[in-house]
Amino acid sequence: MNYEAVIGLEVHAQLQTNTKIFCGCETAFGEEANTRTCPVCIGMPGVLPVLNRKAVEYIIKTGLATHCSITPSSRFARKNYFYPDLPKGYQISQYELPLCERGYVEILVDGKVKRIGITRIHLEEDAGKNLHTSESGASLVDLNRAGTPLMEIVSEPDIRSADEAAEYLKKLRSILRYIEVSDADMEKGNFRCDCNVSIRPVGAQEYGTRAEVKNVNSFKFVQKALEYEIKRQAQVLDEGGRVVQETRLFDSAKGVTFSMRSKEEAHDYRYFPEPDLVPVVTAPEAVEAIRKTITELPEAKRERFVKEYGLP
Ligand code: ADP
Ligand code: MG
Ligand code: ZN
Repeated sequence: MNYEAVIGLEVHAQLQTNTKIFCGCETAFGEEANTRTCPVCIGMPGVLPVLNRKAVEYIIKTGLATHCSITPSSRFARKNYFYPDLPKGYQISQYELPLCERGYVEILVDGKVKRIGITRIHLEEDAGKNLHTSESGASLVDLNRAGTPLMEIVSEPDIRSADEAAEYLKKLRSILRYIEVSDADMEKGNFRCDCNVSIRPVGAQEYGTRAEVKNVNSFKFVQKALEYEIKRQAQVLDEGGRVVQETRLFDSAKGVTFSMRSKEEAHDYRYFPEPDLVPVVTAPEAVEAIRKTITELPEAKRERFVKEYGLP
């Protein structure tokens, strides 16, 4: 049978603030372990978070550059799970009321402009890093990255091929760089992507069951992982099987995806409103002031070059 792929991407981009999202620690890359930490970002009992204003400005700027509505009163939520690199036992994130909603990014497909919808963009903190060293035989934790501001940009399932996914990511990356909110460097882990993918018979209206390939960290791997996954799902269906909803990982050495956990094993994050932070109220004047700082975006520049210089 002939199938069509349906893809939605969740991108985590690190914001280029000087300090962390809820404390005054420097955001740093490649520094000595645990030297950029304080009681707040290592999760000592009784400490309180204070929101970084710059992080809020940067995400609003991103929302405006991607045609989103800015939520007038947004709030934070606790996402609870246990992992050694998460000192508080919860991540401060956003749930029902993200800062930005319902936008889009335009890409070129066969010379035509196609809109990829943005469902939401929310603010959250990054976790630390576990280091598994062979010398000591122990696992060590580095909390320098804990509390680094991230935004999660969730797309609508509007993408139809691995090539479109790569186009979308490149466009998104160039927007983030133009507006100077993130260096969006996949090699440094500043721009990470979860790929949701399903297939359906060509002409079908309903979506198929999706698999989510977590944390793919290069453009090439996103394309490879999606191509592999689309083929795998087609084979499952052609053999009379059913695609199961699950989280998968991409093995870049082998070029394959493999199952990490099924829907039944999925986490229950027990989200609830963060009691230590007040809602973020975005005054229209403040939003307009941020809009004025946005210079010409890649799409506008492309159109201008075509018009002014007659470039194909
Ligand atoms: P979760 O939090 O479980 O990842 P979300 O509802 O936030 O779930 O969806 C995540 C992503 O999955 C979005 O980018 C969305 O576009 C995409 N998505 C949803 N349904 C499908 C589907 N049937 N096929 C492909 N992608 C999908
Ligand atoms: Mg997801
Ligand atoms: Zn700190």
